[in-house]
Amino acid sequence: MLYRSTRVQENMVRASEAIIRGIASDGGLYVPEQFPKIDKSFDELSKMSYQEIAFYVLKKYFDDFSDEELKDCIYKAYDDKFETPEIAPLSYNAGVYFLELYHGKTLAFKDMALSILPHLLKTAAKKLNINKEIVILTATSGDTGKAALEGFADVEGTKIIVFYPKDGVSEIQKKQMTTQEGNNTFVVGIEGNFDDAQTGVKEIFNDSEFNKLLNEKGYLFSSANSINIGRLVPQIVYYVYTYAVLWGEKKIKNGESINIAVPTGNFGNILAAFYAKLMGVPIGKLICASNENKVLADFINTGIYDRRRDFFVTNSPSMDILISSNLERFLYEISGRDNKLITMLMEQLSKEGWYEINEEMKKKLECLYADFATEDETLSAVKKVQEDSHYLIDTHTAVAYEVYEKYKKSTGDETVTVIASTASPFKFAGSMNKALNFSDNTVSDFDIIDDMSKKYDIQIPKSIQSLKNKEIRHKVTCKKDEMKELIKKFLMM
Ligand SMILES: *Cc1c(COP(=O)(O)O)cnc(C)c1O
Repeated sequence: MLYRSTRVQENMVRASEAIIRGIASDGGLYVPEQFPKIDKSFDELSKMSYQEIAFYVLKKYFDDFSDEELKDCIYKAYDDKFETPEIAPLSYNAGVYFLELYHGKTLAFKDMALSILPHLLKTAAKKLNINKEIVILTATSGDTGKAALEGFADVEGTKIIVFYPKDGVSEIQKKQMTTQEGNNTFVVGIEGNFDDAQTGVKEIFNDSEFNKLLNEKGYLFSSANSINIGRLVPQIVYYVYTYAVLWGEKKIKNGESINIAVPTGNFGNILAAFYAKLMGVPIGKLICASNENKVLADFINTGIYDRRRDFFVTNSPSMDILISSNLERFLYEISGRDNKLITMLMEQLSKEGWYEINEEMKKKLECLYADFATEDETLSAVKKVQEDSHYLIDTHTAVAYEVYEKYKKSTGDETVTVIASTASPFKFAGSMNKALNFSDNTVSDFDIIDDMSKKYDIQIPKSIQSLKNKEIRHKVTCKKDEMKELIKKFLMM
């Protein structure tokens, strides 16, 4: 299996190299040369554990890893760090399945891929005889940062630098990151939003002079963002797994398709579902749910991507994004892999802030349905599901639930649907309280968590029980044009 860039055609590399590099040198994203097909029956797959399905899927994409290397990565990642043995349990409530992707250490779906990425990276570096120290550079809207820090802290031969929007994350998210231990971790709040952080990181990746300097000093950059194929492929696993579980439990009939609804920001999670569909998992509609930063919903409904609009800080902050990186990989597929066209569109986006796709591509948007949820609708959805089923969903998942309801109303489609449940309600306790009004505490999310646990009789996840009194270790903030200088300082260059 080879990987090519979405922009320049010649750039073909093996999986290990694509994982190490993170992003292609032409600024494009690595995509598999062709999509491997599911060649086991779902009867067979339904008898396999999460880890076994992970091996089955990952082996197809990372075929330059030996069986032993891959299994080692998988069993180190998906172990009792996860609070449920199924890793990603399915729960049926209010007429729909919730695929709970938040039982890892940092309470968001980012753990599904970021608990394995450090192992993949380390193995890839060994295979390629890289003796440089790998510097993981990551922009986060709140969840990736902590999950990456957790994965890379004290991993030999690596350093990790995380940039998060200083005023754009929840209290819990901020505390999770700023208390991070590990001698190789650096966390910076930037005066700007996620897009500023992500654009800054991408520019640094593509700054050839800076990269040369780094190389001379013995460093090599890589990324823990979903632009890294080593992060995207592990996300395909849970969609294959979900279909296998539904099959095994006879919730779906022979060959019947399911719909998947995903609360979307950077388009990584929903792209993984699209890749699963291309591999042959019977998936019908992909329901793309936006919050009030609805640039994606508008794009899917009009074919025009236009980021020139106001940016809102919402109750689903991990989706507060106006430049969805992974959309580039989707456009690449629906354009018939037209790298010149993709290069042009991406250049126009970066220079002018918008682009429009051609009619042929617009037709291919049909596999998606998209809409958005307002702030009020999001909070009402949390409340509705709680009252209906005594089941708590976080505000990101609620965005997807609301858009799924809109989909059902407008199409009448009753297909079995799975909603990607992307965060634990405890992680966004302040917003949960706005929806459900169970606590008089208004000062700190940490007090709200206690009230939430008592009121709904659910246990506070271990990883945040101890967070409240942890020492803050990272206090650095910077302006968006100071990122490079800070990196130099951290690396003592
Ligand atoms: C990152 C994140 C999202 C958005 O996922 P993308 O892959 O960026 O589309 C949604 N919900 C939560 C809780 C997240 O952390």
